Amino acid sequence: MRLNIRELLREDGVLPFACEVDPAGLDFPSVAAYRSPLSARGSVSSAAGLLTLRGEARVSLLCRCDRCGKEYGREDVIPLESVLVTEHQDEEDPDVFLVQDDWVDLNEIVTTAFVLGLDSKTLCRPDCKGVCPRCGHDLNDGLCACRPEADSRFAVLGQLLQEDEQEVS
Ligand SMILES: [Zn+2]
Ligand SMILES: [Zn+2]
Repeated sequence: MRLNIRELLREDGVLPFACEVDPAGLDFPSVAAYRSPLSARGSVSSAAGLLTLRGEARVSLLCRCDRCGKEYGREDVIPLESVLVTEHQDEEDPDVFLVQDDWVDLNEIVTTAFVLGLDSKTLCRPDCKGVCPRCGHDLNDGLCACRPEADSRFAVLGQLLQEDEQEVS
């Protein structure tokens, strides 16, 4: 959706907005499906010649876990906080958007915020153990049979390392 902010360019004020942005075409390996549009609401305000857009967007996602590959549902809330400028700036700041002929492109602002906010890693749960590289067994359900029998000396070493890790975390 595009928002006309002609009034705000003339005098200080606040202009609320609400829109839905279709995320189709935003393809990410970690997103299996979009279960809702990007639903955004907020306002654009103008004060002392400065135009700011604030609000939030919500979306319901079906994500794919980076470790075990399982799909899981997730609700994302994306904060929107942008500066709107009427003249193009040299700097490439992802939070600065250009107003073109009194119009603000909300689709662009909402999708940019969503894309920048996506985690680099999507996990079905923070401590997901993933799958066994040999048999594909989900290690969250317990160990699989093909777990190699470690030499007892290494087993002791492994135990020590594990205890070390636990102390750190
Ligand atoms: Zn997982
Ligand atoms: Zn296995």
